[in-house]
Amino acid sequence: MLVQLPPLPYAFDALSPAIDEQGVRRHYLDNHAGYARKLNDLSAKEAPGQTLADILASAEVGSPLYNNAAQFWAHNMWWEGMRPSPVGGRLPTGDAAAIVAQFGGYEAFKKKWVEAGTALFGSGWVWLTLDRQGRAFIEALPDAVLPQRASGQFPVLVSDLWEHAYYCQYGTNRKAYLERFFDIVYWPSVNARIRAWSGR
Ligand code: MN
Repeated sequence: MLVQLPPLPYAFDALSPAIDEQGVRRHYLDNHAGYARKLNDLSAKEAPGQTLADILASAEVGSPLYNNAAQFWAHNMWWEGMRPSPVGGRLPTGDAAAIVAQFGGYEAFKKKWVEAGTALFGSGWVWLTLDRQGRAFIEALPDAVLPQRASGQFPVLVSDLWEHAYYCQYGTNRKAYLERFFDIVYWPSVNARIRAWSGR
């Protein structure tokens, strides 16, 4: 078995009201676990001996193997990037604050995040990424495409834009769902990823 579903870092109801209990439970147990299961099945047949990193780096983007590997990986990062308020939802500090400042400050960053996530047609994810020079970008990418393959940039924060992430609670109002993300966003996870990016 290539991967195991990582434990959620909080209870199913911990992100409420930004994401309600049923939303977290179904998303984790049905969607995320489903990607892990399909990835394990496909990798055993198509990529024996490869690690998750190998598959993400080399499987054809858009193939079932890539899609399930990327969805599994993106959900791991997404859950890790959130925490119940008030630990989640604080202002960014340290390196994350410096990244956010590149967008003109926290309010401008939030606005741009929500706009980018709302503008993506169909399913996907909105990412905060860093290039090699440390310039920050917000990019919304379709389906399961990860920035590592799309642009070569390093992701430090993500929001799930698939309808399964918000439809049961917010209906078609993706914008409201994205605005509430900032009630639970966990900036220390961004700082940890920035440290990983910089090799510290
Ligand atoms: Mn999802």
